[in-house]
Amino acid sequence: MQVTGKLHLGNLEGALRNWVRLQDEYELYAGIVDLHSLTTSFEDTSEILPNIRDAAIDYLAAGLDPKKTAIVVQSWVPQHCELHTLLSMITPVSWLERVPTYKEKRDQLHIASPSYGLLGYPVLMAADILVYRAHVVPVGQDQEPHLELTREIARRFNHLYGETFPEPQSMLTEFAVLPGLDGRKMSKSYGNCIHLSDTADEMREKVRSMYTDPKKIRKNDPGHPEQCPVYAYHAAYAPDTAAAAKPECEAGRLGCVAHKTQLADILIESLGPMQQRRAEFAANPDYVDKVLRESADRAREKTSQTMDMVWEAMKLR
Ligand code: ADP
Repeated sequence: MQVTGKLHLGNLEGALRNWVRLQDEYELYAGIVDLHSLTTSFEDTSEILPNIRDAAIDYLAAGLDPKKTAIVVQSWVPQHCELHTLLSMITPVSWLERVPTYKEKRDQLHIASPSYGLLGYPVLMAADILVYRAHVVPVGQDQEPHLELTREIARRFNHLYGETFPEPQSMLTEFAVLPGLDGRKMSKSYGNCIHLSDTADEMREKVRSMYTDPKKIRKNDPGHPEQCPVYAYHAAYAPDTAAAAKPECEAGRLGCVAHKTQLADILIESLGPMQQRRAEFAANPDYVDKVLRESADRAREKTSQTMDMVWEAMKLR
């Protein structure tokens, strides 16, 4: 997760919930990628450090167990940067210019002169993955092109210097990409998020402002639930009542205001237990910081073994 902002429902459903399930079966490294955050937020960096601790609190509240899972702050493990530099030498610029998320970010954020770092975003991500010699990466659908590029970079490295990296497979969550309040993908970079740390009142207010089917202007107009984020959330969080709401919306019997009130209640109830744990961890920042320090120690140990292999494979040691 990047820390350009606080974690949101898309991060929870597209990634975090899955990680919690996987930690019993896999040796899991859950990243907080502060360096990636700088690709779009390099002017004002004051929120990044507080957001790191906040993300760690969300990880713990969602159920990551630090005895099983290392919660790794990317910049605390310099091997990520070391491998990134080496991989950047063997990655053609043309591969990076094709990555859809690059064009999407550049256009959506109106970046007139994209930085070298923004273009190189997926190379740093490839380093984050390959430095652990990971076999599997649990991500949301939006990350699939990055995984494909990671495999291409791994293949190229192995071809040039000998078999070093496994080709990591993505393990996609079944969950579709969650839309944000404005109907685009929910993303920290777009400021269209319902945060895991939002209060009940904030959630109600945000749900009230949500984009809905633009063709449903009056409350009795027939709606198109498959194009409406309110319905997408409803279907995700309460499929039973969503199935009942769908024909009501289509027939013009369920107005958007009423549907939003119903959705806010569902979200608040569903996130309640996690938010309670969140408050407990937030009250104990020393514990959270200790988890991060110990996780970084574990990660440095693991990744320095990889770097020994890499330097040797490249005949530079
Ligand atoms: P953001 O776009 O908010 O900065 P990140 O790039 O930090 O998100 O993504 C962290 C993880 O959350 C990734 O695995 C990504 O697939 C998942 N994710 C992000 N946004 C969404 C979304 N709207 N719906 C589903 N999954 C998402």
